Amino acid sequence: MIIAKAEVIVTSPDRNFVTLKLTTDDGLTGLGDATVNGRELAVVSYLRDHVVQLLIGRDAHRIEDTWQFLYRSAYWRRGPITMAAIAAVDMALWDIKGKAAGMPVYQLLGGASRTGLLAYGHASGKSLPELFDSVRKHQEEGYRAIRIQSGVPGLRAIYGIASNETFAANHGQRYDHEPAQRGAFPAEEDWDTRAYLRHIPTVFEAVRNEFGPEIPLLHDGHHRMTPIQAAQLGKSLEPYDLFWLEDCTPAENQEALRLVRQHTTTPLAIGEIFNTVWDYQQLIREQLIDYVRSAVTHTGGISHLKKVLEFAAQYQVKSGMHGPTDISPVGMAAAMHLGLAIHNFGIQEYMKHTERTDQVFEQSYTWQNGLLHPGDNPGLGVELNQDEAGKYPYEQAYLPYNRLADGTVHDW
Ligand SMILES: [Mg+2]
Repeated sequence: MIIAKAEVIVTSPDRNFVTLKLTTDDGLTGLGDATVNGRELAVVSYLRDHVVQLLIGRDAHRIEDTWQFLYRSAYWRRGPITMAAIAAVDMALWDIKGKAAGMPVYQLLGGASRTGLLAYGHASGKSLPELFDSVRKHQEEGYRAIRIQSGVPGLRAIYGIASNETFAANHGQRYDHEPAQRGAFPAEEDWDTRAYLRHIPTVFEAVRNEFGPEIPLLHDGHHRMTPIQAAQLGKSLEPYDLFWLEDCTPAENQEALRLVRQHTTTPLAIGEIFNTVWDYQQLIREQLIDYVRSAVTHTGGISHLKKVLEFAAQYQVKSGMHGPTDISPVGMAAAMHLGLAIHNFGIQEYMKHTERTDQVFEQSYTWQNGLLHPGDNPGLGVELNQDEAGKYPYEQAYLPYNRLADGTVHDW
């Protein structure tokens, strides 16, 4: 089972996706997701110019050896571009191994530890009535856990609010929340941490009063607070029993989380922009977080994220894998196989892709009664329709950025 062909496919059905397709000499194919939102072509070049030629002629069964070879032979380790490229190769090889074995990948990872994966969706609104409508819509769609993001009085546009009417007008469809805007320059949003800290607890109080105590509620701080501000928010949200508070600080400084932890019992989730186990070393060992947010796509694939999560399990830290729409259906399927197999699964983020995206990536995973399941097709269970993919060429798109009222650039 020798790798005979490696293709990098860029397609943009409503948003950009980068996919690696490997084909073996006996005709098996495997797919890997290598999408890094807003920097897609950097990974395309990494794969096309530096990795593809190294894969041809290798034994497709040797997943761990190929991972170690790509990681160590590059000399320049870690980082989102390198780790997304390695992730795509890793996923594609697991896909091929599953097809060769005639088994879904979760069976190769140890088999199912549960019947399905609890998933949360994104409710949002500029005002409380809009937010309540969005929560009800998600409940009608079957979501049993819901992320709450709200507008803040005085702020024009902020992260997490589904107000993208331009996208809907241009494309006829919309995601719950699609922050990456097509065009040659990032959109500017604005931010005021004090206004946010005053407003958000009132939103959670209103949501709990309206929807009751049982539904798990989540919130994303999106890296915007200092440690002491994050501590203040965690403490002020304690009465509303959050499932988690996500990315309360930019967590490159892992020690900062000690301060947050000392002040609040609100559970903490971190790591959607992390790439390796080294980014979590202190956070997990000192039990400074409760959930690991890494996606398979951005953390070196199934092989590496499984190691991160096994390390986390020793400290009762659970998975909460990143699942926005810039994780392609291939990356989502990989997350579901891993999530089904590990013992310390926590929750899976899940935003539905658009119809066009579902036509390009034909899926066998299912969403029923608020639970995801990867399906039982051999491999990852996602196939790329290359005719459909070819209809949607790459279009430049950027994530937005933030400025404070005085013009200072702030974390977005
Ligand atoms: Mg997030």
